[in-house]
Amino acid sequence: MSHYPSHSYTGRFAPSPSGPLHFGSLIAALASYLDARAHHGRWLVRMEDVDTPRCIAGADVQILQTLEAHGLGWDGEVVYQSARSEAYRQLVSDMLDAGDAYYCTCTRKQIRALGGVYPGSCRGRQQSQAAASVRFAYHSPIAQFTDRIQGKQMIHSAHALEDFIVRRKDGLYAYNLAVVVDDIWQGVTHIVRGSDLFETTAAHLGLYQYWQQPAPVYAHIPVASTEAGYKLSKQNKAVGLDNTRAAQNLLQALKFLQLNPPDNLFAHNCDKILDWAVGQWCTDKLPKQAEIIVDKSESTYYNQS
Ligand code: GLU
Ligand code: ZN
Repeated sequence: MSHYPSHSYTGRFAPSPSGPLHFGSLIAALASYLDARAHHGRWLVRMEDVDTPRCIAGADVQILQTLEAHGLGWDGEVVYQSARSEAYRQLVSDMLDAGDAYYCTCTRKQIRALGGVYPGSCRGRQQSQAAASVRFAYHSPIAQFTDRIQGKQMIHSAHALEDFIVRRKDGLYAYNLAVVVDDIWQGVTHIVRGSDLFETTAAHLGLYQYWQQPAPVYAHIPVASTEAGYKLSKQNKAVGLDNTRAAQNLLQALKFLQLNPPDNLFAHNCDKILDWAVGQWCTDKLPKQAEIIVDKSESTYYNQS
């Protein structure tokens, strides 16, 4: 299934172009970049634009410019998931043919009435294809994995272990499918991403197992939150990064990642700062927690208005 030559380390940053990069996404980009470079690995950028209604025209270009402004240079071409539909279509069709996926017509309301966790009601039922989603028949969910930062982890949420959607009712392919298909195709060996995606790992591991592919090594870093449970996000009024303050943004992100830039680094440009950070990078310093609360009054993070 893999299209690229194998490397001992291939990492990636996989933003959704639904808005500009903000401080929270800079942390994910920077951590995955530093980890890749510290391992002398490749670092890819992939635009996760499968959820087209949420994408904003031009956000992809803006994201790439912001990465460049911060000295975060990637390897190879940027892959767009919107160009990968044929691969997803083929794999979902194979899953359906093999009886490992099925059509589901249950509504959100019906699932809520059943307790919120999808109980597999449509498994084995012949459904018409119109207005149906397609779910993976996740027979033996993987609820345990070892995270490089968080250690041995159990996923407790039953929702994360249900038969998950691989193709939505509106015909769009689901993030949980596309992310695994492309990580396999691009030969990604190491994933460094925010802890907000922690529980999705159960679904992802299920697909690696199903396709008999080696799972990547996962490292989930704490996300930046303005208060407990509120990560910086576009919905949560996080501001877009100011590219004219790129060096300061990097230094702030390095502090968040528990690297303590010395004072003399403050006079330097992004490339110098990144060189220093690659040499210092160590995931052991990161706290084993899902989030770190940042100061709301800090304008880099958060739009007060
Ligand atoms: N596209 C996802 C996001 O922006 C990240 C995917 C991943 O790192 O697995 O939240
Ligand atoms: Zn159903």
